[in-house]
Amino acid sequence: MRPKPPPNYLAAYPAALADEVRRLIEQNRLADALLRKYPLAHEVRTDKALYDFAQEIKSAHLRNAGQLSMVCFDSRLQVMQHALGTHTRIARVQGTKLKAKREIRVAAVFREMPQQFLQMIVVHELAHLKEAAHDKAFYQLCRHMAPDYHQLEFDLRCYLCYLDAAGRPLWSPVAADDLGTESIGATARGP
Ligand SMILES: [Zn+2]
Repeated sequence: MRPKPPPNYLAAYPAALADEVRRLIEQNRLADALLRKYPLAHEVRTDKALYDFAQEIKSAHLRNAGQLSMVCFDSRLQVMQHALGTHTRIARVQGTKLKAKREIRVAAVFREMPQQFLQMIVVHELAHLKEAAHDKAFYQLCRHMAPDYHQLEFDLRCYLCYLDAAGRPLWSPVAADDLGTESIGATARGP
């Protein structure tokens, strides 16, 4: 099998803008810009913590979208489905009741990222609970949950381009031992 080219994370943006991002990566300037803007990694280490993180956003903005059954990190999403996140709504008949299961999976790459990027992907998948297509109503809902949604998605996609080129994450999580203390979260690592 021939190796696949890396996905073009900036395909939806104007070519000139994508070229500019590639230039910044080549000149080693993108990493610094990202670290200045997002100095810290989040502390959402487990699926349980991720569920709580999503639940908090949902109860603030999407209270009537039904109960979330599961939210988890998934290390196979990017490889198998070329997806950063997925959502499923499964309706099951249980006895006389129709039960809906709502699941959100987040690509494992989001484990080592700033909280804003995790928020962006969770907001995206939560919005799909109400709006299936990537249309105006969908993005309106995203902006309702995260007013700077479009900027966050662009910054995230710039970072994914960087990650492809550099091969290692910009942010590293704190050691498990440090969790639960008053630590500020994570140390930023240079390129
Ligand atoms: Zn989507």
